[in-house]
Amino acid sequence: MRLEEYRRKRDSRRTAEPQGERKAGEGNCFVVHKHQASHLHYDFRLEMDGVLKSWAVPKGAPLETGVRRLAVQTEDHPVEYIDFSGTIPEGEYGAGTVEIWDSGTYDIEKREPGEISFVLRGGRLSGGYVLVHTGDKNWILLKRKVK
Ligand code: MN
Repeated sequence: MRLEEYRRKRDSRRTAEPQGERKAGEGNCFVVHKHQASHLHYDFRLEMDGVLKSWAVPKGAPLETGVRRLAVQTEDHPVEYIDFSGTIPEGEYGAGTVEIWDSGTYDIEKREPGEISFVLRGGRLSGGYVLVHTGDKNWILLKRKVK
């Protein structure tokens, strides 16, 4: 059910992206895809509720505290998308190149409808982060100090 929008946007005969057939576990992985589509952006994805909750972050996740980055929530992606990299063909949804910019695991600290706090353990991103919902699909991604 959660992946309906994901599947509706994609033609499995044309794109090598996963279809989401694997049964998802309850992992705590994250990935950041560098996606050179019509506009370069970074897709920040957290494994949560058996899918990858996803946000498009035009400027990428902040590396320093105090920097606010817009993060626009996009459709849930299947968990196996965590390993995906490659080229989405011209004319298809998200056409362009996708590469893994960072990946790792995370610990959730707080999850409320308007706020998700977590600690990332990735190669490039590590430490405390928070996603704050500001309205509609818009969130702000911030790096925060961990006590
Ligand atoms: Mn994208």
